[in-house]
Amino acid sequence: MSDLDAFRSKTRAWLEANCPAEMREAIRSEEDYCWGGRNWQFKSDAQRSWLEAMAERGWTVPDWPSDYGGGGLSAAETAVLKEEMARIGARTPLASFGISMLGPALLKFGTEEQKRHYLPQIARGEIRWCQGYSEPGAGSDLAGLQTKAEDKGDHWLVNGQKVWTSYADKADWIFCLVRTSSESKHGGISFLLFDMETPGVSTKPILLISGNSPFCETFFDDVKVPKDQVVGEVNKGWDVAKYLLGHEREMISGMGLAGGGSLGAAAKPADPLLRADISAFDVDSLAFQAMSERFIAMWKAGEAHPAMASMMKYAGTELNKRRNALVMAAGGSDSLAWDGGEGKRARDWLRSKGNSIEGGTSEIQLGIIAKHILRLPGA
Ligand SMILES: Cc1cc2nc3c(=O)[nH]c(=O)nc-3n(C[C@H](O)[C@H](O)[C@H](O)COP(=O)(O)OP(=O)(O)OC[C@H]3O[C@@H](n4cnc5c(N)ncnc54)[C@H](O)[C@@H]3O)c2cc1C
Repeated sequence: MSDLDAFRSKTRAWLEANCPAEMREAIRSEEDYCWGGRNWQFKSDAQRSWLEAMAERGWTVPDWPSDYGGGGLSAAETAVLKEEMARIGARTPLASFGISMLGPALLKFGTEEQKRHYLPQIARGEIRWCQGYSEPGAGSDLAGLQTKAEDKGDHWLVNGQKVWTSYADKADWIFCLVRTSSESKHGGISFLLFDMETPGVSTKPILLISGNSPFCETFFDDVKVPKDQVVGEVNKGWDVAKYLLGHEREMISGMGLAGGGSLGAAAKPADPLLRADISAFDVDSLAFQAMSERFIAMWKAGEAHPAMASMMKYAGTELNKRRNALVMAAGGSDSLAWDGGEGKRARDWLRSKGNSIEGGTSEIQLGIIAKHILRLPGA
């Protein structure tokens, strides 16, 4: 038996023994995700014990180094763990912007002290993070951001406003882009971390078409931030921001794999045109799965072109929007249900509209692909 086969059988046995039955049921609503953080109310004992068991082994972040709370697994072992979790339908133990976005940026740009301080807390789900990038006048043109951090000797003084900050009202800390110099657009940005309970931070939830309020306007009025909470060099935060965006896009591209991809088995409407659309979707979905496996392997090995994350983000989110539209169409008048579990279909469909905006719009991704991958003239 190869080492990897031995790892698979040990992992399978461990998951069988430690993944509670409830954590193998399909996600029914937003509340089924475990986000962790200091104010997190576990939905059940099963949700708590599943997070604790996985965090104990470093398996919330299986491929991070064990010194920083990770599992220290190789890429091949990480893939096996994911396959074995998928085999029993195990839920991800922790949904976290710390894992998918900030962690990789800290691993690359953080000081040793920052890594040892923040990464294990992220791995254990102790800090819930939000992302302070977009501003009322800076979305696609992110480097136009105006939130200011002034150097006051022993601290930064932050003033300004962010918008569309997902879960800002629930997050413990924020990773935030601020302007520390006005001399250069891209060269005057720094990447700050701070506690959302710092005096001067306030949030105002925004109600969405789906009926939920997952994101907020976020205000900073004379917020004092300790000097050592800058990641990377002062005025060079754009490098950190871009690197993190690549990881955000990689994470969002996973939406293309939602629902296991194929719709064929789930929906067999009588309408032949709709059946044809579903078949075409299933073919594209299989192609996306194959492309995704190749991309993730290259991305984790540091071999992917940075703009590939844009390609995958674009393909995955457009696919997910198509998937949700087909699920609605196949459901007929049942799709109009709004309340309770039945309403998930309509709410998911409406939520999917945001996929091609969050993490950079589809138009912006197409622009990046045209310029950096296709090298089209004038792009
Ligand atoms: C569900 C969701 C969650 C989000 N969560 C967060 C978060 O947690 N933190 C955060 O900081 N932000 C978040 N955002 C904000 C998101 O990053 C921005 O909405 C996005 O970058 C677009 O910026 P904008 O809304 O200002 O639109 P704009 O930049 O004003 O764009 C408006 C339109 O113009 C188009 N456009 C703009 N520039 C170009 C161009 N150069 N070429 C072609 N077309 C162009 C865009 O594609 C778009 O269609 C979230 C957004 C959504 C929908």
